[in-house]
Amino acid sequence: MSNSILVINCGSSSIKFALVPATNQSQQSLMRCSGLAENLGTPEAVLKIVNEQGDKTSIALPNADHQTALTKILDVLNNEKPIAIGHRVVHGGEKFTEAVQIDDQVIAAIRETTPLAPLHNPANLLGIEATLKLFADLPQVAVFDTAFHQTMPAQAFRYALPENLYREHSIRRYGFHGSSHAYVTHHVDELLSSNNHGWLSAHLGNGCSTCAVWQGKSLDTSMGLTPLEGLVMGTRSGTVDPSLHVHLIRTLGWSIDEVDQILNKKSGLLGLSGVSNDMRTLTELANEGHAGATLAIEVFCYRLAQSLAAMSCALPMFTGIIFTGGIGENSANIRARTMALLPHFDLYIDEDKNQKMIRGVEGRIDQGNDSGRQIWVIPTDEEGQIAQETRSVLGL
Ligand code: ADP
Repeated sequence: MSNSILVINCGSSSIKFALVPATNQSQQSLMRCSGLAENLGTPEAVLKIVNEQGDKTSIALPNADHQTALTKILDVLNNEKPIAIGHRVVHGGEKFTEAVQIDDQVIAAIRETTPLAPLHNPANLLGIEATLKLFADLPQVAVFDTAFHQTMPAQAFRYALPENLYREHSIRRYGFHGSSHAYVTHHVDELLSSNNHGWLSAHLGNGCSTCAVWQGKSLDTSMGLTPLEGLVMGTRSGTVDPSLHVHLIRTLGWSIDEVDQILNKKSGLLGLSGVSNDMRTLTELANEGHAGATLAIEVFCYRLAQSLAAMSCALPMFTGIIFTGGIGENSANIRARTMALLPHFDLYIDEDKNQKMIRGVEGRIDQGNDSGRQIWVIPTDEEGQIAQETRSVLGL
């Protein structure tokens, strides 16, 4: 038996996994077997694996369900049987303020939270139930995307809505990407040997959010009741006028599902550019003068800068900004454009350092000044964070 944690992120038709060995967190990403089973339940179902040496394998699993795919994953891991399993669970509502060991009560509570995450929580439960059946001897832990933000004060988490919508229907801001914001802020605190800092963390991937973290605790974040609120994302609109739904339904005769689809799947960078949700493609197109791609990047950076400025209100003291996620880690262009919109932060990018910060490199990219404020790029490690929380819950 290895000393690894199997981290599982189960979607409705996919399973992402990573076998995370017990090493120093910062080394973990260097030596992991990971992969993705996708198109589950269809003839195109396939398992793609990257081993510790970086070799890639694809295994066709026609019509495989979650359980079949998980059996195959464990089969492939062979004698690397993990000592525990950590599950990413999207929504823990107010019930879960930290990771917990999974038992029948936890499963029931995750199920009760389903109205808040109707697409995600049932998929996460599918993964949990399948692994409980297959590996009854392994302890399993649920790590919630929302839990890190349960330290937000009411002024940040309440919407200005009638009280009973909160008390009786749990309508409030929850926030997501908790594992990522927790990991990058904790990691920089470790590098600086102190957590007496106020960070603005910007997780910029296909989903995007900002978070204000003071002394290791989340005080505000840009996502809300659902992961649609806040920044412009790959295909999600981010914040729009709350009356937009009613307007589209009344004036265009759209159904609720159509509105939901448009705002979640056809908006954001894709909607603005008309061509792509991928920042690499948009950057290339913008360099060639494509008007839609140029606009998409402008709106993305403007809304990101706005959000960072707004989030700074949450912090008693401001130490600096941390960029992470596929865009945050790799796009010098987006980092530079965004910081250029925040001159009142008195915090300036060193363009040489900024250009060097790509593909998994971490470090500071500010010019350094008397205020001591900093800009960091930190590759996120959500799997490492989930594995570390799993160990800590189980005392491993
Ligand atoms: P997910 O949220 O699905 O985990 P990622 O964190 O991998 O996604 O982020 C995906 C985004 O990162 C895409 O928009 C992709 O274009 C962008 N990205 C990756 N590499 C680069 C790069 N070199 N320059 C600009 N954007 C990049």
